Amino acid sequence: MVFNPTMLTRRTVLTGSAGAMATLGAGGALPASASAPLATRQGPGVYRTKLGGFQVTALDDGVWLLPIDDTFVRNASAAEVDRALRGAFLPPRILPVTFTALLVNTGAKLVLIDTGTAGQVADTAGVMLDNLAAAGVTPAAIDTILISHFHPDHIDGIKTKDGDKVFPNAEIWVPEPEWAYWMNDANMSGAPKPVVKYFLNARRIFADIAKDVRRFKPGMDVMPGITSIPAYGHTPGHTAFALHSGNQSMLVMSDTVRNPYLFARHPDWQPIFDMDGPLSVKSRRRMLDRAAADRMLVASYHFPFPACGHMVRRGTGYELMPVEWRPL
Ligand SMILES: [Zn+2]
Repeated sequence: MVFNPTMLTRRTVLTGSAGAMATLGAGGALPASASAPLATRQGPGVYRTKLGGFQVTALDDGVWLLPIDDTFVRNASAAEVDRALRGAFLPPRILPVTFTALLVNTGAKLVLIDTGTAGQVADTAGVMLDNLAAAGVTPAAIDTILISHFHPDHIDGIKTKDGDKVFPNAEIWVPEPEWAYWMNDANMSGAPKPVVKYFLNARRIFADIAKDVRRFKPGMDVMPGITSIPAYGHTPGHTAFALHSGNQSMLVMSDTVRNPYLFARHPDWQPIFDMDGPLSVKSRRRMLDRAAADRMLVASYHFPFPACGHMVRRGTGYELMPVEWRPL
C-alpha cells in the first residue's frame, strides 16, 4: 500500500470529530446553535454582471406561483405541460412566474428595464425596491425607465398604490405600438372582458403623466448601447432590447420566452398570455435562434433568478444554461 498522507489525515480528523461528538452527546453541553430560529425569508436578490463598460444588475421582484389548468397552453395538453414541469423538478399544475427587473449602469445613465409588480400581482412578489436599495441605488437616482410592454407585472412599479411616481427623476420610454394599442379607447371597448383590466391599468399608470412619456419605434436605438427589437405577439407592441458595450452584448428578451422549461424547451407552445399565439411563436423562435447562434448572454424577465444565462439548441427546442455566481 502506498502511504497517502492526505487519506491518513482525513481519517484521523473524521475519527477525531466522531469521538468528540460522542463525548459531547453524552454530556449534552453543545452550544445551542441547533435551536436557532429558522429564517423566514431569502437574502437580497441582486446579481451583477459586467458587460463591457456597462454594469448590469438583476433585481429580484419575487415570484408568483400561478395555478394553471388545461387551458393554459392552447396547443398542448395538461399532461404534456405537467410532464415538462416534472422534467424541471417542479410540481404539476403550478407555474412559477419569477419577476426580475434589470438595472443597467451605462456609465452615463442608470437605466431600469421594466419595473416589477409593486406587490399588485401576487403577495409573494413586489420586493424589487428592497433589492434596488440592497444594490445601493435610490429610486431618485434612476435616469431612464425602458418598458417592454404594458402588462401589469412590467409597468406597475412606475407608481405607488396611491398613484405617486416611484422614480421621480426618470424619463419613461415605451414602445410606440404598445402605447397606440393600450391607450386607444376603441380597442378597450372591443376587448374581451379579461383583457379590459389591462387597458384600465395602463390608464392608471400613464394617463396623468402621458405628456412626459416618450415613445420609441421598436428597432431604433433608444440610447447609446441600447437597441430596441420588435418582438410582437405577446402583446401588439411587445419589445425586447439588446445591450452593447465594448465587444460584449446581451439580449434582453423581455416576455418573448417566459418560463424556460416550458417555452424554451417547446417554443411552439402558445400560452394564453400570448395575445397573438402564432406571431409570438415566430418572435420566440427568432429570438432564441439569435441567442443560440450568436452565443449571446440573455436576460429574460420570467426566467428563474438571476434570470440570466445562455440558450443552447436541444432537439426541437432550447435549453437555458444559467449563469454561475461569480465575483466581479
Ligand atoms: Zn410579464
